[in-house]
Amino acid sequence: MNDQKAWERGVWLMEDIHGRLPRHARQQLGDLLADYRRYKWEMLALTLTAGSAAVCRDCGGQCCQNGKYRFSGLDLLALLDRQVSAPTPDFSRKPFCPYGDADGCRMEPLFRPLDCVLFICTAVEARLKNTVINSLASLEQKLRCNVKQAEILLERPLGQPLLLLAEHPVDTPEVIS
Ligand code: SF4
Ligand code: SF4
Repeated sequence: MNDQKAWERGVWLMEDIHGRLPRHARQQLGDLLADYRRYKWEMLALTLTAGSAAVCRDCGGQCCQNGKYRFSGLDLLALLDRQVSAPTPDFSRKPFCPYGDADGCRMEPLFRPLDCVLFICTAVEARLKNTVINSLASLEQKLRCNVKQAEILLERPLGQPLLLLAEHPVDTPEVIS
């Protein structure tokens, strides 16, 4: 299966899972995803306050290469939950990320893949105070906990890349059967 087909299949898979969730499970997932988006935003806000935008502008986005596996099943559910369209990937941009363009990432910060949000390069880290580093570590723990809770709730490895979930779908779990 090529990347484009895997993406389409992955999106279909997540839409199917989301569409068939019973009301109580959808509510629980919605609460988890609200926290998931909020913690991501808080992490990005902390680095922006420390001046990351200027550093990233000078760098030109070195960390946005080879990003096709960063977008997870849960990242897609976070979009579906808010009825926001997923980006249309362009896999021909290789080695640049298929979810970005010349202006940078095409997703709003709170919808960007968890891996992208958690990555803090040495140039940005050098600008962070210890208190901010501690806050970031605490938010990272909360985000990883969100992923685990969602995986338990839906009985699927949702933290895995969407492209890989599409290639190795698991059986329909009890929560949506
Ligand atoms: S996070 Fe670091 S590597 Fe990524 S764009 Fe910013 S400065 Fe560059
Ligand atoms: S998803 Fe966005 S932030 Fe992440 S690597 Fe791709 S362009 Fe960069």
